[in-house]
Amino acid sequence: MLPVVVVHGGAGHIPKERSEKSTMGVCSAAQAAYFVLQGGGSSMDAVVEAVTSLENNPSFNAGCGSVLNIKGEVEMDAIVMDGKTLASGAVSAVRNIANPVQLARLVMDKTSHACLTAEGASQFAHSMGVAEVPQESLITEYSRMRWRKNLAPDANPVESQMGKMGTVGAVAVDIEGNVACATSTGGMLNKMEGRVGDTPCIGSGGYADNLSGAVSTTGHGETIMKVTLARLILFHMEKGQSAEAASDLGLAYMKSRVGGLGGVVTVDPKGNWAARFSSKQMSWAAAQSGMLHHGLYTGEHFTQNVEEPH
Ligand code: ASP
Repeated sequence: MLPVVVVHGGAGHIPKERSEKSTMGVCSAAQAAYFVLQGGGSSMDAVVEAVTSLENNPSFNAGCGSVLNIKGEVEMDAIVMDGKTLASGAVSAVRNIANPVQLARLVMDKTSHACLTAEGASQFAHSMGVAEVPQESLITEYSRMRWRKNLAPDANPVESQMGKMGTVGAVAVDIEGNVACATSTGGMLNKMEGRVGDTPCIGSGGYADNLSGAVSTTGHGETIMKVTLARLILFHMEKGQSAEAASDLGLAYMKSRVGGLGGVVTVDPKGNWAARFSSKQMSWAAAQSGMLHHGLYTGEHFTQNVEEPH
């Protein structure tokens, strides 16, 4: 059954006119990562490939296309975790980086720390030869428009509750049975400057352990952190639950206990996978055994062959 990769493009409400782009984005990210795995690449290489592709796609709230904070600026968070060694790396509140997930991986590979933030993360990026990009290159017309709309005193409460989400993430199992996760986000629309969400926090934005599986989460960060959603799901898997049942249990607990909505992609080390959400929508895609699966609404599940790379 191995290998497998599952990606998400964020839980929340995806406006109709943006749903096709969102579906295409998660499908092509899953396929790109699947080719890495098929070529013998590690699960860590695959999740970074998937998330880099989603960060580069302006349809998602990560990298280019990130939502803006209250001052109209981009501040991004990202995490990676390796299930073989439990090594992890994260960055928070980074501003001028095109691919925060790659910087998070450098934190894991090149430092003795688990997370670098803001100015310190920038200095580290510079020392690693990671190019700085101008803020404008990360800001889309759409994110600017939403920021403005949300500043208005009569801002639509539905948009403020559900429309703020859109993180991206991936989990994978490689041919050796190693699991990994990666998650990246622009955070919550019109957040306070300096706000750090769940994404870079181990056990909240993601977790990976070869003994149980890997999870990448999306949704309301402040409530995800209260229940450490990724770790909670793996706890249920350690107790014998399937990836799907454990994901549902974690999401149901978050909803009943703290009123939070979200979504997750989950794998176990054998390659069983799940894409589950309590929000109205979550774009997701999974590639395994030459097949590509994807969906957007609860119960939706389309299947087609994986497209060969051009
Ligand atoms: N979890 C992210 C955050 O709170 C947002 C999202 O998943 O859309 O920063």
